[in-house]
Amino acid sequence: VQGYEGQVVAVLGLGRSGRATAAALKAGGAIPVVWDDGASAREAAYDAGFDIRDLTKAGAFDDVAALIVSPGIPHLYPKPNPIIAAAWDADVPVDNDIGLFFRSFATPDWDNFDTTPKVIAITGSNGKSTTSALIHHILVENGRPSQLAGNIGRGVLDLEPAHDGEVIVLELSSYQTDLARSLTPDIAVWTNLTPDHLDRHGGFGGYFAAKRRLFAEGGPDRAVIGVDEAEGRYLANQLSQGRGDDRVLRISSGQKLTGDGWTVFARKGFLAEHRKGRQVGSIDLRKIKGLPGAHNHQNACAAYAACRTLGLGPKGIEAAMHSYGGLPHRSQLIAEQNGVAFINDSKATNVDSAAKALQAFSKIRWICGGLQKDGGLDGLLPYLDHVVKAYVIGREAEDFARQLTGADAEVCGTMAAAVAQAKADAQSGETVLLAPAAASFDQYDSFEKRGEDFIACVKAALA
Ligand code: ADP
Repeated sequence: VQGYEGQVVAVLGLGRSGRATAAALKAGGAIPVVWDDGASAREAAYDAGFDIRDLTKAGAFDDVAALIVSPGIPHLYPKPNPIIAAAWDADVPVDNDIGLFFRSFATPDWDNFDTTPKVIAITGSNGKSTTSALIHHILVENGRPSQLAGNIGRGVLDLEPAHDGEVIVLELSSYQTDLARSLTPDIAVWTNLTPDHLDRHGGFGGYFAAKRRLFAEGGPDRAVIGVDEAEGRYLANQLSQGRGDDRVLRISSGQKLTGDGWTVFARKGFLAEHRKGRQVGSIDLRKIKGLPGAHNHQNACAAYAACRTLGLGPKGIEAAMHSYGGLPHRSQLIAEQNGVAFINDSKATNVDSAAKALQAFSKIRWICGGLQKDGGLDGLLPYLDHVVKAYVIGREAEDFARQLTGADAEVCGTMAAAVAQAKADAQSGETVLLAPAAASFDQYDSFEKRGEDFIACVKAALA
């Protein structure tokens, strides 16, 4: 990290990204002082040789040049964080590791693309990880060196220095875009926008604003934007004003995008690329095993478009999509027995992503429930005709089941009970699908742990 040589920089939060930040600051010649509300995190940092400073004390920011905050720490909502507020009060700039990364990363000019590294940043409510992993995979398969980082893969400050011609693929959540003071990717990708994490951002407007910071004035050279919601259309229109048509690519899952611009859309299982009103590329997505369902076709469009802006050819992109293996906990096929498929989509932590999973399959024995997010479950109701029966887990299972009007729903409570019952009921041709439409924290530490429990329960039930 450059720009803070010889200066004191405070780091708040000592998880993985906080520790990497402190180490990178030190390596760059700054003097990091660190703090975490948890005593054990502080002790571990002390043992690792970091200077602990109690940032809750008066005067803690007197000699500090910047405060770097971990993404997990909310700054303004639901209530202002007192340490961050104290930094603002002391006129100390507040930033995060993503901001530090962009500050240090010299953005080269577009014309010299082949000889300079590039950063692609991906954001949106759903599909970020899949799109990021897919872009990375396509680049690597096409002989383009790439590093995957951010919300997926490595922390940005753990990256190897980028070489000429290399691409850094950065997944960014709203928790990372909200505070970053510099956000200057060369290519920015917007998948979609639906309500999520509203408590952290003080409502939908704050959530939209946090994500759209990636596309601010003077932001990306190229933008790939999902235009299936009003927010994406607005963003695309704003960005294309005064720019050439080749700088904003509009993508859609479901709509045919016509006009003079550059578009990539998926319809009825086919991806099409249009440029100035002419079709210049197409892919039969139904043949691509690792990307089932219309939601994954949207991710395929986003990844295809991003790789096209880098000059990759349609054929090379298509070939790489065929070898894409998918990510754990996203539409992941766990087992097939007696004609019944068992699918782990534990990452469907909100109503929209679960609705997408329900649309991607039919005759579903659906395991759902957990900690509900704001907004209720109405978004699921249109897809209940894909569901044979729901098996509801979690602390709020009774309430969850009650909202699934018209569905056959059984309150099972635990994953083990739900999997055992679904397996016992399932007929050949049906799918047992974990797509919770809720957070996991009532029963698990993370969606990964929930998915692993599902896998273990499926293995036990099939043994
Ligand atoms: P993110 O990183 O944005 O959370 P993931 O690629 O990890 O996105 O997918 C999260 C969940 O959202 C998946 O389990 C899947 O059910 C659903 N999903 C994936 N892509 C999309 C999409 N483009 N639109 C809506 N839902 C999606």
